[in-house]
This record gives sequence, structure tokens and C-alpha cells, in this order.
Amino acid sequence: DTAIVWFRRDLRVHDQPIFLEAAARAKRSLAVFVLDPRLLEPSGKARRTFLFRSLRDLDESLGGRLLVVKGDPAEAIPKLARAVGAGSVHVAADFGPYGRERDEAVEKALDGVELVRTGSPYAVAPGRITKSDGEPYKVYTPFSRAWTQHGWREPADTDASTVDWMDPGEKDGGPRKVKIPDDEAPEAELPAAGEQAARDQWAAFVDEHLTDYDDLRNRPDRPATSRMSVYLKYGVVHPRTLLADLGGEGKGPTSFRNEICFRDFYASVLWFFPRSARENFDTKFDRITLDSGESADEKFQAWQEGRTGFPAIDAAMRQLRGEAWMHNRMRMAVASFLVKDLHLPWWRGARHFMELLVDGDLPSNQHGWQWAAGTGTDAAPYFRVFNPVTQGERFDPQGDYVRRWVPELADVEGKKVHQPWKLNEPPADYPAPIVDHKAERQEALERFNAL
Ligand code: FAD
Repeated sequence: DTAIVWFRRDLRVHDQPIFLEAAARAKRSLAVFVLDPRLLEPSGKARRTFLFRSLRDLDESLGGRLLVVKGDPAEAIPKLARAVGAGSVHVAADFGPYGRERDEAVEKALDGVELVRTGSPYAVAPGRITKSDGEPYKVYTPFSRAWTQHGWREPADTDASTVDWMDPGEKDGGPRKVKIPDDEAPEAELPAAGEQAARDQWAAFVDEHLTDYDDLRNRPDRPATSRMSVYLKYGVVHPRTLLADLGGEGKGPTSFRNEICFRDFYASVLWFFPRSARENFDTKFDRITLDSGESADEKFQAWQEGRTGFPAIDAAMRQLRGEAWMHNRMRMAVASFLVKDLHLPWWRGARHFMELLVDGDLPSNQHGWQWAAGTGTDAAPYFRVFNPVTQGERFDPQGDYVRRWVPELADVEGKKVHQPWKLNEPPADYPAPIVDHKAERQEALERFNAL
């Protein structure tokens, strides 16, 4: 008898509870990944390339026995189950709006073969944590208290040898095996793919930066954060593994746990309120006046290209292109700038992020944007407008971050780099600010007050 282990956003062999389930039910398992055009097309080059590299690493861990097929999973998985006579199909539950719909369709088409959901990509699965009356939390702090109290499982002790893998060549019929697609040469320099790379990066972070994480996590000029987001996105590592390694109660570990909790919180909000991926969570903002038309498009383009004339904003937007990643503090700053200084809709910015980010992830991205726009759950109040200059001066105090990403300003020393317009000779090839922050802040507040 055979089981199917269907990998999705869990491209790893360690800490894999679905392996234990599959091994308990069947003598051997077929490992499969479905290239689903509905997920691949909107992913952007960086995420697709990272996914393909991660699949190659997984295939290698499985001794070349990962079967990759292409198409609609609701067709491919049942066909495959019939071809190998599978008694069960094993997955980690998907809680995104598309994933849950897809899995219901697969379940139906499996027609009696059981779809066994074990675990999720989160420390605590969405839906588990509610208020005592069953209502979802809309505010982070009480959610995080309940999350800590609920706790999470210990990592599962698995590796590739936990399961006896079937050679896909033995299957008789069913969907055709395809090659893992080639890299798409994204313009950004991507992090190394694979479980070993994730583990090395994590070990280095714990060793060198965890203790100071709480103090330095807001500094884009320092390598002070873990860079685990991309590995978490594709499940190359599970958050449980990270939480188990944190140990102690110190400020660093506590602060890191809070960030993992934020990831769970936003997944939970999306689970209970799927419309918040596309629409203002707080519907009162549906009536706020936003800019559109040619001049708005020009400003949007300047923002995308890192030519706003605000050095910290431009450095961040260029980091996004250069690394397919942006520091969290700067994600907040550029989002605030787009919404409050340029008066553009948050979803335009969110879409640009989703196109370029290698860690682009619907719940964290859409809710991060709604937080910064002031339209979300537990959001920064709309009237709190980030100052794009002060954000730079506070969090990039020597200006190193700006000089790294904005070569036109590379020769400007120290924090003066945050206000090039004040220099005796501003660099000729760097633009003047495209807006007057003070005036636009006032404008944003007036539009808000008009609601
Ligand atoms: P660390 O500081 O090392 O944090 C550890 C982990 O905690 C992260 O890997 C991440 O999984 C989680 N985390 C940290 N901060 C947040 C947060 N604010 N919200 C949710 N989870 C968090 N994160 C994504 O993974 N994908 C996105 O598409 C995404 N888009 C964002 C858009 C905006 C406008 C904002 C403000 C934030 C967004 N974030 C997103 C959250 C955060 O910026 C990134 O998770 C973080 O910068 C990743 O770097 P790191 O792994 O070094 O973080």
C-alpha cells in the first residue's frame, strides 16, 4: 500500500509531521509537488526562482524521488492517487483563501481517498485562538497573550529516511513527470535556497544577533534580523523549529517570539476575514479620497524606482529591487509614504511588493500594508504620519544604509545624507523631493478628518 505526500509550502524533510502520518499508514509513499499555474503566475520572478531552487534541494534530499507535475491539483492529485492506488494523501493544512478552496476541491475529487491534513505552516494554526466567546481577535496584544498561553508543539523528529519513498518511475499512468523549471534570472540577488542554507543562516543569527535583536531590529543599516521570512514562506523551516531554539526569556528571544506571533496573528486575521486581503479592513476608509490619474501614476513610478528624493525611502525601494527583500522598518516607512504623502491606495503598493518580494506572503504583506495605511486591524492610527526624513535619521543614524543603496549619495558623509537638499552642492544626479512632506501630511489629515 502506498500513500502520497503532497508538498506545498513545506519544502523540507526535517520537522515534518506529515511524514510520520504517512509512514504510520502506508509502507511507502510517493513524494509529489504540483506546479500550479494559479499560484505560479502571480508569484513574480524572484519567488518563482526561489521556489524552483528549493524544489531542487528537496528533490536531492529525497534521493531524486520527488515527482513534479504540472496543472490543476484538483485534477493532478486524484489522477495520481488512482495511478499508484494510494489510500491516503498527506498535506499540511493551507489556510490561505485560495489554498483552502483548492484543498476542498481536491478532497471532493479524491472521491473517498482520504486527504489527511496534519499541522500547518504556523506555530498555532489559524482558527485555534479565539476569544472565550469564540469571536476572533482583532487586536494583536490580547491575541499574543492567548497564543503564548496556548503554546505549540515540539519539532517532529523526521528526516528523509522517515519515509520509504517510492520511485516515481514505477508509477503506471497518471500525470506526467515534468522537470523543475529553470531559474528565471531575477534582477535581485536571492538568498541561498535549501534546508542547509536556512539552518546555517539561522544558526549564525542565533549566535551573533539574537541577544541584541530587540535593540537593533529596527536598524536597516545593520544585519540585525534573522532573514528567515523567505524560508518560512516556503516552509524550508517551520516556525516551531525556530521557537524551540530560542530558549530563554531574555529580551532578544521574547522580541523574536513576538514577531513569529505577528505572522500567526495576520494569518489568523486572514482566515477569519478573507476579504481583508483585498479590501480595507476598516470600511470607513472606503470613503477616503485617493489620488489617481497621470500625476498620481508618475509619483507611483518614482516611488517604485526609488526616485522620490527622500533618501531613506529611495534606499529602501532600491533594496527591494536589489535583494527582493526590504527591512521591516523601511517597509513601514515606504508604505506610509505611499499612502500619506502620495495619497495612493495601499493595494497598489502591496501589489508591487508582491511582485518583487522573495518572501511575499499574502497575510503578512496585505496586513502589513493595512497597518501602515491605518486601515487594518490594530493599525497605526491614520493621523500618525511617518516623517520620511526622521525615519532615516533615527534608524540609519550614520547614513550607511542610504549610501549602500543610493550611489548618487555615496560621497555624502554621515547623517547629512538624509537631507541632500540642504548641502551646499546637492548631487546633481539625485532628484529633489517630489513632494513637500509637511504639506502632504496636512493634506492627509484633512482627507482623514473629512471622513
Ligand atoms: P525578523 O525580524 O528576523 O523576524 C522574524 C520573523 O518574524 C520573520 O521572518 C517573519 O516571519 C516574522 N515577522 C517579523 N515581523 C513581522 C511582521 N511585521 N508581520 C508579520 N510577520 C513578521 N513579511 C513577510 O514574510 N512577507 C511579506 O510579504 C511581508 N510584507 C510586509 C509588508 C509591509 C508593508 C510590512 C510593514 C511588513 C511586511 N512583512 C512581510 C513583515 C516583515 O517586514 C518581514 O517579515 C521581515 O522584514 C522579514 O525579515 P526577517 O526575516 O529578517 O525578520
